[in-house]
Amino acid sequence: MILDYDKSGLVAVLESPVFRVNQIRRWIFCRKVCDFNLMTDLSRGFRDGLVEKFGAVLGGKELMREVSDDSTEKLLIEWLDGEKVECVLLRDDRGHRTACISTQVGCAMRCVFCASGMNGFVRNLTRGEILEQILRLNNCLPANERLTHIVVMGIGEPLLNLNALLSALDEATSEDGLNLSIRRVTISTVGIPAGIIKLAESVKKGGKGYKLAISLHAPNDKIRSSIIPQNKIHNINEIIKAADHYRQQIGRRITFEYTLIADINDRVEHADELAKLLTGKTAIVNVIPLNPVKELNLKTPSKQTIEQFVKRLQSNGIQVKIRMRKGNQINAACGQLRQNFEQHQKE
Ligand code: SAH
Repeated sequence: MILDYDKSGLVAVLESPVFRVNQIRRWIFCRKVCDFNLMTDLSRGFRDGLVEKFGAVLGGKELMREVSDDSTEKLLIEWLDGEKVECVLLRDDRGHRTACISTQVGCAMRCVFCASGMNGFVRNLTRGEILEQILRLNNCLPANERLTHIVVMGIGEPLLNLNALLSALDEATSEDGLNLSIRRVTISTVGIPAGIIKLAESVKKGGKGYKLAISLHAPNDKIRSSIIPQNKIHNINEIIKAADHYRQQIGRRITFEYTLIADINDRVEHADELAKLLTGKTAIVNVIPLNPVKELNLKTPSKQTIEQFVKRLQSNGIQVKIRMRKGNQINAACGQLRQNFEQHQKE
């Protein structure tokens, strides 16, 4: 895949001068052109060579596209080896156009509320496959519009595929790539301390300080271990310590995601405990009412319970955002489209 190569990689593999590579990149990133034949400032022979070497800019195949009433668009993409992932374009009334992307096929974390890991982990995505999702979603927008945000909140655990992810994000945020602001890119993680430290180290060496969101989902290790198996390996304290280190490195606050699940983590006592855990951490809590997954027997708390939980956090001095649910109609929760597709194929 051509997207697997960064600029210097392309110069090497095509044995071409930088200006030629820049021409190709301009077509792909600025003009949304993914067919080599349409890159008319390149000679016919050179275009033929690109087609022969790479086929097309996009290596995957769009298997399904679903659009919901709130104009959320979800794509299911099949890669050359037949594996599939999904990615989502979310729009809101503030003009944000956000790409939500996957980093792995399947997921090894097996969080009990998430559809992504139901069939286990298959493989990491390549840099090109991650970048392709971003480009495809950008191409869903009208010609004069571009993505404004990226959230790495699709299938997979991003910190377990960090090199490919950072390489793809680098392109999305480089001036001659998609030129997105670094501050508008968020990586969400289950909380792998070694990965967070590695991210911090990369920033220290001049790398880009993307925003970090930690999937906390519980105020104590007992509850967290019961819904996130990974917590038995790295507990809340270790994760918060690593997150603190990263926060100091980028000088921006960390988001803690908290998926509210009925009768598991939704009591006001849990809100108190969570507030205690985060006091003094300049954090923001992103409360996400559970998006129910058909096969998993978990429920979303009532509106009243959600409101009480949020109010209690706020009265404890914690800043809270509620993540509005989007694209419910189209199975836009993590891994749901891929899961449903596989299910239909079996039926
Ligand atoms: N592996 C990364 C990215 C996962 S998806 C991580 O763990 O953060 C992004 C967020 O959606 C995570 O906070 C995840 O825990 C949450 N999530 C997954 N399934 C969900 C569901 N059914 N309802 C609500 N949130 C969910």
